[in-house]
Amino acid sequence: MMKNLQELIVFVDSGDTLVDESTEIRDENGVVIEAQLFPGADEALRSLHRAGYRIALVADGLEASFQNIFSRHGLEECFEARAISETVGAEKPDPAMFRCAMKQMGLTEEDRGRIVMIGNNLERDIRGANGMGLHSILAAYSPRYRMSPACPEEQPDCVADHPSQIPELVESLK
Ligand SMILES: [Mg+2]
Repeated sequence: MMKNLQELIVFVDSGDTLVDESTEIRDENGVVIEAQLFPGADEALRSLHRAGYRIALVADGLEASFQNIFSRHGLEECFEARAISETVGAEKPDPAMFRCAMKQMGLTEEDRGRIVMIGNNLERDIRGANGMGLHSILAAYSPRYRMSPACPEEQPDCVADHPSQIPELVESLK
């Protein structure tokens, strides 16, 4: 049976949004071999997927890193699309990253208002999403990043203080 899909589309970052960067183990080429997710991040992603949200991973890094991390946690099926900077040839906030995910999902410029980007990085995730006219949710629970917007372009629509809050914040944007 076809699952009823949600109108709102979810783009999500990896490092320090889902993955706890302090737990990353890398090989000699800088590829992440394994990493732990923040408590609650796994369930947040799965619950959005179960609820019928179409989800894209929009992340800066190496393809192999994300392959390793998400296959190990059994979360690959949650992602309909992946825009990875190694392959795109650009990093957030470059619109090319967001457009790569949109293209894979068959979305056009007119769909931008029904996309939300979730990420921990104000300069990359939030500024990038805002600049494109997407909604934005700041994942504010990482201790490693600045969490105060430096300019209006970095102001998120809402803030998640814990990964478990992400599904309800997404719901609130519908
Ligand atoms: Mg990040």
